[in-house]
Amino acid sequence: MIPAAFDYVRARSLADAIDLLRRDPDGTKLVAGGHTLIPTLKLRLASPGLLVDIRGIAEMKGILVNEDSISIGALTTHAELLASEPLNQAFPIFRQAASLIADPQVRNRGTIGGSLANADPAADWPAVVIALRAELEIASASGSRRVAARDFFVDIFSTALEPGDVLAAILIPRPAADARFTYRKIRHPASGYAVVGVAAGMRVNAGVAADVSIGVTGAASHAFPGDVAAGFLTGKALSQGNIEEAARLQSAAIECLSDRYASAEYRASLIRTETTRALLALAA
Ligand SMILES: Cc1cc2nc3c(=O)[nH]c(=O)nc-3n(C[C@H](O)[C@H](O)[C@H](O)COP(=O)(O)OP(=O)(O)OC[C@H]3O[C@@H](n4cnc5c(N)ncnc54)[C@H](O)[C@@H]3O)c2cc1C
Repeated sequence: MIPAAFDYVRARSLADAIDLLRRDPDGTKLVAGGHTLIPTLKLRLASPGLLVDIRGIAEMKGILVNEDSISIGALTTHAELLASEPLNQAFPIFRQAASLIADPQVRNRGTIGGSLANADPAADWPAVVIALRAELEIASASGSRRVAARDFFVDIFSTALEPGDVLAAILIPRPAADARFTYRKIRHPASGYAVVGVAAGMRVNAGVAADVSIGVTGAASHAFPGDVAAGFLTGKALSQGNIEEAARLQSAAIECLSDRYASAEYRASLIRTETTRALLALAA
């Protein structure tokens, strides 16, 4: 439980962090909240030569609520997302999801950027940013680029981030005024991580579903968009039967993870029940 020796430096700015990473992208690790990275170092699952502490970078913190979009700095903590009134007036789903993450100690240190970059298959934010159709702003020595959240998570603990990249911010377009979002999760009793979590968004137009968007976490190697359910339901009457069929089709379309806590069959069944419940809540 003792990490291999490493050097440690605090980055003063985003440019400083990028410069430090550029010198040895494969041998350098960023540390934000440290809630995942520090145990990983202690177990020697990673042994970087240099640890760049980004937690003090002011330009990567905070929540900006604009007319047409919302920007969240990658270093914003789960607790700050839970507490932000302007953010939760626009998107109450942030309070809903943040309040389901672990406990106050973890929420006070863990960051949304660290969670997304880490891409734990059972983390909560990946499902939420997919359902919100967010874009992730990535900065590196060669400039900055945006990646749609739905394309960001590529495999277990694996994302579109390349060595040398810093996830700088999460950008969320303002949806239509009548759009609603919700998040449901079945928590692992020990860690609080999602056995399965479903974030869903929708508009209801004279009893018909519009703009349906779904993000699922916990069920597979990485979070994914629930396009099968969204595609089936969009443009259809919001009957219980249509909602249940959308959830059933989504559940049948995915090869789920199996572990000591939950079998693949159980996770598939949770996709069905949690997607149904999330969509019924939005339809109510
Ligand atoms: C006991 C416990 C329970 C938890 N329960 C939950 C839960 O219920 N739900 C949930 O979703 N999460 C849970 N978590 C995870 C936690 O909330 C954090 O989200 C997670 O640890 C990662 O955030 P961090 O800021 O600590 O990142 P760190 O540990 O600092 O970093 C994680 C990884 O991301 C990289 N990284 C960090 N920031 C950036 C960046 N801006 N750009 C590029 N790379 C970056 C680091 O190099 C590292 O590889 C739990 C953690 C613990 C310890």
